[in-house]
Amino acid sequence: METKKKDIRALTKEQLRNFFVERGDKAFRGNQVYEWLWQKSAHTFDAMTNVSKETRQMLEEHFVINHIRVDQMQRSSDGTIKNAVRLHDGLIVESVLIPTETRTTACVSSQVGCSLDCRFCATARMKRMRNLNPDEIYDQVVAIDNESRLYFDRPLSNIVFMGMGEPLMNYNNVLKAIDMITSPEGLGMSPKRITVSTSGVPKMIKKMADEEVKFGLAVSLHSAIDEVRTSIMPFNATFSLADLREALEYWYSKTKSRITYEYVVWEGINDTQEAADALVKFCRFAPSKVNLIEYNPIDDGEFQQASSTAVDMYQRTLEKNGITVTVRRSRGKDIDAACGQLANKT
Ligand code: SAH
Repeated sequence: METKKKDIRALTKEQLRNFFVERGDKAFRGNQVYEWLWQKSAHTFDAMTNVSKETRQMLEEHFVINHIRVDQMQRSSDGTIKNAVRLHDGLIVESVLIPTETRTTACVSSQVGCSLDCRFCATARMKRMRNLNPDEIYDQVVAIDNESRLYFDRPLSNIVFMGMGEPLMNYNNVLKAIDMITSPEGLGMSPKRITVSTSGVPKMIKKMADEEVKFGLAVSLHSAIDEVRTSIMPFNATFSLADLREALEYWYSKTKSRITYEYVVWEGINDTQEAADALVKFCRFAPSKVNLIEYNPIDDGEFQQASSTAVDMYQRTLEKNGITVTVRRSRGKDIDAACGQLANKT
């Protein structure tokens, strides 16, 4: 009977070392293999050239390396690149490379589909199929780092968890992936260059605060009025703004790190002075930055980007109250790579 082979990257370094010791080999062999798996991102056991042929064969008999495959790469006229990434079980997620003058940002997915139901987001129209494993998140980052070196002649500089899925609903795997991305045994990136974006899961925000994580937090707020927020982000009925606010206060008290809010202004939904005042009231308790992001249409016109007058009104209101604000233009729209457009069209 053939037993299913295990994904070797599900093992910790200690477990891999023990695996070799149990077979009468040296623990050090585990370190070598671990380095191939993570730092060198080997796709096959055969690539591990400083490991003997017998050992490679033995590993092959026990394990698989479930490496992702970039199935399709699309390039936008503005330089943005979107990868359709095939997972070992055939499912597909998307990740995006966003270049600016000085930086390359990777926007990565944390789930296949999403369990939340934000009315304005294309990913919500797929059903949530499964969580990504830590190595599947890690591989997306490696793929974009390689593309950044190839096309822009520089390494990846920043990572945002703003692709498909809700990172805090795949908490353990996302944190494990970040551990490897920041570890010198992985990519050695600074956690300060990583931002996790959430639609706001209060319990998990508190847990992150307790674990004293060093990466940044962004919250997709879109409205600071419960009734309005629930109408566009239905889970707000369960995780209310009061709970979210309390969790964010806790986060700030522990981390002292600035909170970023993502916010789209839609016509007839949140384009009033009253809505802008509610936003100020919600985020004034800690140093905050509001990204006013452009709406990327995904549907038949239920949602419309508000006028520039309304966006200017938001900007003025926030600035007057000492809140940092940026008005962000979308990137990669022509290839459906912009915020909220990731939905496996291909
Ligand atoms: N679930 C996480 C990660 C997804 S991030 C979160 O909600 O933060 C994707 C970002 O794009 C979120 O801020 C989301 O609110 C925003 N977004 C979703 N659909 C959009 C659209 N059609 N246009 C612009 N932004 C959108």
